[in-house]
Amino acid sequence: MKFNSFNQIKTRFAPSPTGPLHLGSIRTALFSWAFARHYNGRFILRIEDTDIERSSKKSLQSILDTINWLGLKPDEGPFYQTNRLLYYKKIITEMMKNGSAYYCYSSPDDIENMRTIAKKHGLKPRYDGTWRPEVGKKLPKIPNNIKPVIRFKNPQTGILSWNDIVKGKISIQNSELDDLIIMRSDEMPTYNFCAAIDDWEMGITHVLRGDDHINNTPRQINILNSLNITPPNYGHIPMILNKEGEKLSKRHNVMSVMDYKEQGYLPDAIINYLSRLGWSHGNNEIFNKEQLIHWFDAKNFSKSPAHWDNKKLDWINSFYIKKMSDQSLYQTLDSFLTQQVKSLNFNNLFDTMLLFKNRVSTLKELAENIKMFSETFYPIISIDHKKYLTPFILNVLKNFNHDIQHINWNRESISNFIKITLGKYNIKMSEIAIPLRIILIGKIQTPPIEDILLLLGKKIIRDRLNVL
Ligand code: GLU
Repeated sequence: MKFNSFNQIKTRFAPSPTGPLHLGSIRTALFSWAFARHYNGRFILRIEDTDIERSSKKSLQSILDTINWLGLKPDEGPFYQTNRLLYYKKIITEMMKNGSAYYCYSSPDDIENMRTIAKKHGLKPRYDGTWRPEVGKKLPKIPNNIKPVIRFKNPQTGILSWNDIVKGKISIQNSELDDLIIMRSDEMPTYNFCAAIDDWEMGITHVLRGDDHINNTPRQINILNSLNITPPNYGHIPMILNKEGEKLSKRHNVMSVMDYKEQGYLPDAIINYLSRLGWSHGNNEIFNKEQLIHWFDAKNFSKSPAHWDNKKLDWINSFYIKKMSDQSLYQTLDSFLTQQVKSLNFNNLFDTMLLFKNRVSTLKELAENIKMFSETFYPIISIDHKKYLTPFILNVLKNFNHDIQHINWNRESISNFIKITLGKYNIKMSEIAIPLRIILIGKIQTPPIEDILLLLGKKIIRDRLNVL
């Protein structure tokens, strides 16, 4: 696809630091980043922090950490809107002069009344234009107890359209839109105004964002039109839905992106998985960042919402865990290991990691498996498992525990010793392997029992079987 009217593609990610970054938001960042990279453009990070009450340093830090963790490095920014207040004021003053903005002295009670009346008539709640100046219109007397807000004088006639990169042509009657507040009474400019102005001033050519922002777009375009500015291209990406078909939202206990980090998901897996939510390249499910950039033009966005599927994410994460080199897996795993585990003999720790590397979905799960091999781990035998521990088998295991202390410690002799035990008591492998797993590790399924025994070592085997 060619965008001839621009010298260079510029996209932006413009989060508000009002909470940790969630999956939907970071997907917007990812798409904007990949789009810019695909066209050799620039990707900008802008922090929309004019909602002072809801913005926090902690949220800001979490945004920066998430972007950093996923490697979505901006080419410019972060720019903070609170550093640009004088600039916004200057533009609003110009708009007041050219008649595209005006003071509104309606009190909160007045606004509430307007809403009630609109609702009564089955209309959308909206500002009724009391203070909107018109030729020949007499405005009310200015009250002296009210600090005014500034509203944008939205066109009242005509149709506003744009060709949405994702959804195609979208049109809306201007008569549907009321005059929105662009500066609050505390002189803080509002989101729609700042976003529109910044997109222009920062040279943004393509705005990609969630389709929960579709209603804002005509307002932003009208603001830009009133200043004779050509609006950027917009693309609205359908929301991500949960299994029940509801929008993923904080209310539904959706984890933040950094929670996924803590759960042991790898950044490459998150990027790979997220990029398939609302975008595709044929049937490709697994691809790296370079391929994503190579393929990420504007053609393959999906018009319908994507569904979050934890199982698929787990599958992709396990793929990336398997693919990692043993050394870097060990390094990445470090922060998941407790001090007790770290005190394990290094070779043991490393070999245990390798034993489970291909069997887990997350680093946390991997670490939990390794933990079972430390001396301070006490397996819990569940009631369901008790049926495997018959008096006969417990007796076999007592003798097993005694005799295994005298064999040479390598996989082959452990394997031989098990075979001898099976012959001696005329039992099947599962009759001894399952009880051993339960008592030694607290689980029915594990990698081969020889490997488990080898890595546990004589002392731990003795201690754990001694409780019989
Ligand atoms: N600050 C807005 C948000 O976090 C950004 C919307 C936009 O991309 O224009 O939802």
